[in-house]
Amino acid sequence: MSSESAIGNSAAVVSAAPTSVPSPGSSTALPPAASLFMKGNVIDGKAVAAKIREETAAKVAELKAKYSRVPGLAVVIVGERKDSQTYVRMKRKACEEVGIASFGADLPETATQEEVLEVVRGFNSNPDVHGILVQLPLPKHLDEQAILGAISVEKDVDGFHPLNIGRLAMKGREPLFAPCTPVGCMELLERCNIPMKGKRAVVVGRSNIVGMPAALLLNKRDATVTICHSATKDMESIVRQADIIIAAAGQAQLVKGSWVKPGAAIIDVGTNPVDDPTKTAGYRLVGDADFEECKAVAGAITPVPGGVGPMTIAILLRNTQVSGERFITGKLQCPVAEDTTAGSRKGPLSRLLKDKEQLGPWSLVAAGSLLAAGALQRVITSRRQ
Ligand code: NAP
Repeated sequence: MSSESAIGNSAAVVSAAPTSVPSPGSSTALPPAASLFMKGNVIDGKAVAAKIREETAAKVAELKAKYSRVPGLAVVIVGERKDSQTYVRMKRKACEEVGIASFGADLPETATQEEVLEVVRGFNSNPDVHGILVQLPLPKHLDEQAILGAISVEKDVDGFHPLNIGRLAMKGREPLFAPCTPVGCMELLERCNIPMKGKRAVVVGRSNIVGMPAALLLNKRDATVTICHSATKDMESIVRQADIIIAAAGQAQLVKGSWVKPGAAIIDVGTNPVDDPTKTAGYRLVGDADFEECKAVAGAITPVPGGVGPMTIAILLRNTQVSGERFITGKLQCPVAEDTTAGSRKGPLSRLLKDKEQLGPWSLVAAGSLLAAGALQRVITSRRQ
């Protein structure tokens, strides 16, 4: 299994003639960034995302020409939330633009757990579907963890399956997919030639979908990572040590210019609406960093909007293309229906054993531990009798 594209392809770095990025202060955190994707010290996320979409479309076209098949993405939405419907529409349109086939299931707010699981299982065993995404949040009566866990790990293009997250956390292991927004953050750093190896990185936020996987991805790239969260004391002085700051707290303009080491790179994931009567909508979006203050000190910074935002869908498309390629070229087989039944005794463990080639020796260790625990239990029981 190749994990290259699951955690970004450093070979794809686009370089240009070095131009120095002015920054006040004598000690700069990072060497001057040089990239076609930067305007001054501002990272152009739209341009990076457009490049990734273009690369993805080319690979989809190659598959189509060679195998007469294209990757397919299934998006499951439950309920009528307007924002979720907008995101799903955007994802389906983006698929169309790069030649990925779109599959959909729009379930009513009242859908039961079993009905949602049934839809997921159907996509798991559909050979034309190579990626499955359940739009979050789900209505409160549904068990999100069970539904996400029912998605076949091989089709988990969102990268939220516990096996994929587990492998992301393990040294010497790679996930089949890593979560899209954090991978997008890594791509921005890589394509802007911002080094991570040996650098100090601070991630503000530890959510399952952004902060934690971002920290794990930075760790995989040999950065020394500190995670800050709502109980962190004196965060300002921790952030000030960082060469790379990933801000993902969902707190408008939390990171101030005075918190930033001169020359540091800031990837701002935050998307926070703040009142703005000058806008037709009555609000505008700001990041977790105070953009103007931080821009004056940072070596590189992403704007909001136009930074991390466009990357998420671009990486989702790339993950789907990578998945489609694995299935279409025969590196992976589509799971059969009974194998993916949530809660089935033939579920995750049997697949771990079956897929030992792809999932690596740790699955055998896990299985071995379970077998050993069973044997021990039998010994204890027989001695008691
Ligand atoms: P989340 O689930 O609410 O998690 C926020 C994290 O930040 C938590 O770990 C929380 O700590 C921490 N936090 C909150 N306030 C803090 C403070 N004052 N100081 C330090 N840490 C603090 O949010 P999320 O889903 O990760 O999203 C974060 C932001 O990214 C949001 O603005 C969201 O809209 C945006 N986002 C953007 C994209 C994109 O594509 N651009 C994608 C996803 C999310 P605790 O763990 O202690 O509670």
